[in-house]
Amino acid sequence: MNTYDIAVIPGDGIGKEVVPAALRCLEAVADIHGGLKWNWTFFPWNCEYYLQHGEMMPEDGIATLKQFDQIFLGAVGMPELVPDHISLWGLLVRIRRECEQSINVRPAKLLRGLESPLRNPEPFDFVVVRENSEGEYSQAGGAIHSDEDELVVQNAIFTRRQTAKAMKYAFELAAERRHSVVSATKSNGIVHSMPFWDRVFGEVGAAYPDAAARSVHIDALCAYLVMRPQQFDVIVASNLFGDILTDLGGAIMGSIGIAPAANLNVERKYPSMFEPVHGSAPDIAGKGLANPIGQIWTAKQMLDFIGLPELGELVLGAIEDSLAAGVKTRDLGGSATTEEAVSDILARLYRRG
Ligand code: ATP
Ligand code: MG
Repeated sequence: MNTYDIAVIPGDGIGKEVVPAALRCLEAVADIHGGLKWNWTFFPWNCEYYLQHGEMMPEDGIATLKQFDQIFLGAVGMPELVPDHISLWGLLVRIRRECEQSINVRPAKLLRGLESPLRNPEPFDFVVVRENSEGEYSQAGGAIHSDEDELVVQNAIFTRRQTAKAMKYAFELAAERRHSVVSATKSNGIVHSMPFWDRVFGEVGAAYPDAAARSVHIDALCAYLVMRPQQFDVIVASNLFGDILTDLGGAIMGSIGIAPAANLNVERKYPSMFEPVHGSAPDIAGKGLANPIGQIWTAKQMLDFIGLPELGELVLGAIEDSLAAGVKTRDLGGSATTEEAVSDILARLYRRG
C-alpha cells in the first residue's frame, strides 16, 4: 500500500466548497487503484483564522507543513475584511517561498466538451512555467517621499539561480511535449531585468538544441494567445508575467474556474503545493455554484507529480467525459451546481476505472 500524507488547507470562500469535491475524486481514484491510501490532515488557516489570531497561520506553521508529503490548497482571500496582500503574503506566498516551491506549472488546454470562447475554435494545449519565488513580487522597495510629491519604489529581483531553474524546467518539459519554448520578455521597455532574463534564456536554451526557442514580448504574447494559442507549447515567464498569462489561459479555456496550478519544489526536499489558479471568488462563495474542475484538475497535477500519471489521465478523462455530456456549472454557461458537477465526475471516474 502506497500511503501519502497530505496537508489540506481549504482556505476561504469557494476553497471550502471545491477542496472537499476534489478530495472525493482523489478518494475514488484510491478506491479504483486499490494500492493507494491518502491520509488527509486539515488546517483551518484562512482569513477567519487571521481575524481571530492576527496571523494567517501559527508561528510553527511552515515547520508543520514540511512534515507532509504534499500540500493541497483551495484559495485564500476575504478582501472585504482582510487586505489581499496580508492574506496572500501571510499564507500562500509564505508557503511557496519557505517550502522553496520555485516553479509554478499551469497548463492551459481546450478540454473536450468545451467550446472555445475565441473566434478561432481549434483546440490548443500549452503550459506556462512561471518563476514562482522572486521577480516582480518582491518586498524590496518602499516609500521615498511621503509628502505631496509622494514617491514609491518597488524593486524586482532576478537571480541567475532561479531564472535558470525555471527555464531548465521549461526546456525539460518541452522535450516531453512538442519541443518548443517561448520566453515571455519585455526587454524593449524594462532595461535591467529583462535583458538579463533574455541572456539567461539564450544560455540555458543552448543546452537543448532539439528545442525551438524564441522570445516574445509580453504584450504581443497576450495578443497571440487570443488570436492563435495553438502555436504555443511551453511558455516560460517571470512571476508577474506568468500570473497574468495564466488568468488569460483560464479565460480562453472557457473559465478561470477550470485552470489548475502546481507549485513545485522540484528537488523534492520539501512538499509541493497544489492550488488552482482562481481565488476565493467571494462573489459566488457559499452558494454551491463554484466550478470544481480547477481544483480537481489540480488534483490530477498532484497525481502526476507523485508518479501516478495514469491516474492523473483517468481524472482528466472523467472531467472531459462530464463536460462532453453537457454537465457544466454557471461560469461555463450551464446550470449545474458544484454538487451536481462533482457527482457526475465521480460517476464517470468509476465508469472509466
Ligand atoms: P481573490 O481575492 O481570492 O483572488 P478574486 O475575486 O480577486 O478573489 P477570483 O476568486 O479568481 O478572484 O474570482 C474572479 C472571478 O472568477 C469571480 O467573478 C469569480 O466568481 C470567478 N471564479 C473564480 N473561480 C471560480 C470557480 N471555481 N467557479 C466559478 N467562478 C469562479
Ligand atoms: Mg484575485
